[in-house]
Amino acid sequence: MNQYDLVVIGGGISGLVLASRAGADGLSTLLVEREDRLGGCLRTWQATPDFWLELGAHTAYNSYRAMLEVLAERGALGRLARREKLGYLFLDGDRVQSPLARLRWLELLTHLPLGVGRKQAGKSLAEHYGALFGRGNYARVFSPAFAAVLSQPADAFPAQWLFRRKARMKEAPRKFTWPTGLQGLAEALAGDAPFEVALGTPVDRVARADDGYTLQAGQATVRCRYLGIATEPDVAARLLAEAHPDLAERLRRIPMADIESLAVTVPAGQARLPRLAGLIGVDDDFHSVVSRDPVPHETLRGFTFHFRPGRLDEAGKLARAARVLGVAPEDLLDHRAALNRLPAMRVEHVALAGELDELLRERPLLLAGSYFNGLSIGDCADRAAREAARLRRMRGGA
Ligand SMILES: Cc1cc2nc3c(=O)[nH]c(=O)nc-3n(C[C@H](O)[C@H](O)[C@H](O)COP(=O)(O)OP(=O)(O)OC[C@H]3O[C@@H](n4cnc5c(N)ncnc54)[C@H](O)[C@@H]3O)c2cc1C
Repeated sequence: MNQYDLVVIGGGISGLVLASRAGADGLSTLLVEREDRLGGCLRTWQATPDFWLELGAHTAYNSYRAMLEVLAERGALGRLARREKLGYLFLDGDRVQSPLARLRWLELLTHLPLGVGRKQAGKSLAEHYGALFGRGNYARVFSPAFAAVLSQPADAFPAQWLFRRKARMKEAPRKFTWPTGLQGLAEALAGDAPFEVALGTPVDRVARADDGYTLQAGQATVRCRYLGIATEPDVAARLLAEAHPDLAERLRRIPMADIESLAVTVPAGQARLPRLAGLIGVDDDFHSVVSRDPVPHETLRGFTFHFRPGRLDEAGKLARAARVLGVAPEDLLDHRAALNRLPAMRVEHVALAGELDELLRERPLLLAGSYFNGLSIGDCADRAAREAARLRRMRGGA
């Protein structure tokens, strides 16, 4: 039986930052990941030897300090790859439009002066930005744009969890990826790291033991003094059902959103679209199309469509992708599908996150993930770093 100070379940950005921080604090730490790769939503498809496409997250910012601090400790800041600044356009039916062309200016001018200074707390995106820009503008521009950012219907999402002013790390490019895509960045967080990694190891069961926890992963049993769970909230609920039923009950209240992602590659000269960061779907089968153009390539372009779940089969998705790009389906060189899952957060979940924190106080359990203060990679890293700091305090450190 293996024994660690801390076991972290989940090898996405949350688990990687949590394990990094705790390992650096001197705890013997094991990171356990179900899949045979690290990254979770940082999921890169190597389409050709020199062309990759993101199937999940695509852009990181220099406001993601908690993650950048770990990369700095690994000596990896210099490897970040700058993303070119390109714009998003809307796709309404088959028409490509700029955001400005969709705005109703009179409505904007009559609402903006009344809305400035409104507090975001306790408001959904629809309530806050509808009041600020007008309901018509919200429906035409902001609702589809927020759904594209969050890869799910976003009107009920807490406004205070989307945009916050954050300090930037000037040593890093403002927008960046990794030379081999963001999954490579996740792997860099585990390279030369102060923790062990077990891949292809789904944890099935967590039980309380005298002094900590016992974990079951297939035939293997692991014991730990402290436990970190950095999985999706529904998985966390399942794992904690026996050991912490009060936490599990709250975690079960968070619904999940499925995103059916499909990446396609085309010869660079063929797609009808101008160079762009991506497309925002208006009442379309997809929320967004994310382009590889910000990391240009001489002969290929790549586009990842984030489809709403349950609408189209793979042939239907490929046909829609080809039509959007203005190419024949047989001109698509290659494609790769993936299912992504994210929590579907609503305003009432802000209070739920507070309740979770209240229940966690003094327990040897750490919870990290995209359901505490926002969905972005930076939000996840911040939460993980805060949980590591709580662990340090629990152990009597500074
Ligand atoms: C399509 C899409 C695009 C996005 N784009 C961006 C973007 O451009 N910029 C940005 O900042 N954010 C973006 N995000 C959000 C961001 O990527 C995620 O919120 C974040 O990566 C989640 O990280 P996580 O570690 O909390 O969870 P996850 O990445 O979901 O990781 C959880 C891990 O736990 C593992 N696991 C689950 N169950 C078990 C088990 N029983 N045992 C062991 N391991 C288990 C999973 O396999 C997974 O690896 C995007 C998300 C999606 C889906």
